[in-house]
Amino acid sequence: TEDALRKADTLSIAGSLAAGVAHEIRNPLTVLKGFIQLFNQEGDTHFPYSKIMLSEVDRIELIISDFLMLAKPQHVRFSKNSLQEIVQHTINLFETQAIMKNVRIIPNYGPDLPQVDCEANQLKQVFINILKNALEAMPQGGNIHVRVLRKDEKHMLVRFSDQGVGISPEKIQRLGEPFYTTKEKGTGLGLMVSYNIIKNHKGYIEAYSEPGVGTTFDIILPISSQQKAAEE
Ligand code: ADP
Ligand code: MG
Repeated sequence: TEDALRKADTLSIAGSLAAGVAHEIRNPLTVLKGFIQLFNQEGDTHFPYSKIMLSEVDRIELIISDFLMLAKPQHVRFSKNSLQEIVQHTINLFETQAIMKNVRIIPNYGPDLPQVDCEANQLKQVFINILKNALEAMPQGGNIHVRVLRKDEKHMLVRFSDQGVGISPEKIQRLGEPFYTTKEKGTGLGLMVSYNIIKNHKGYIEAYSEPGVGTTFDIILPISSQQKAAEE
């Protein structure tokens, strides 16, 4: 309907504005951080509150970087990519972090994997957010299985299954809500941004969880239309 369209327009304008503002905040923040670090080096007697200032500036940086992933309209350019390559790049980023946390990330790529139309960096960001959450949900360590397979004729599936603390049924509906977090140092922005990116790719995310057992995130994405045509 017209109303829904107008709402979507307003939302995307608000998104680009917010991303622009977030970007502008980053530069002065970097300068500020540099000077605080200088205070820190001079020793606590010089400026005893510099440690607190630094950790608060770090926190602002985290919120902004989580938020910035949301909308970067100027860079969005879809091209054909293989999902398993993007997934593997993401897994590589977590190599040392996983070892430190006693976590094994186990990839499994199905046969016959067609490509998807996407902005690879944005998808990588989604996979980073989901893997990061999985690691954070597994304080005792364990396995994270990552699968890439063809779901059906028209769709690909990327599945992340962790052995973490899980999410209760009441809470699972809140995933993707802005600022919804259960973590002391969480921003509650990672999933909101991820859901938005996947929606912009005409896909969707589904989450399944059993408290105490683990959580599975499924990301479903349409197969590149060119690819489908070639197969027909
Ligand atoms: P943040 O990680 O900053 O809290 P997110 O948007 O990434 O924000 O996640 C929101 C919330 O969803 C988390 O605080 C957590 O409660 C829940 N969550 C997400 N992924 C998982 C997971 N793999 N296992 C358990 N809980 C999760
Ligand atoms: Mg997160």
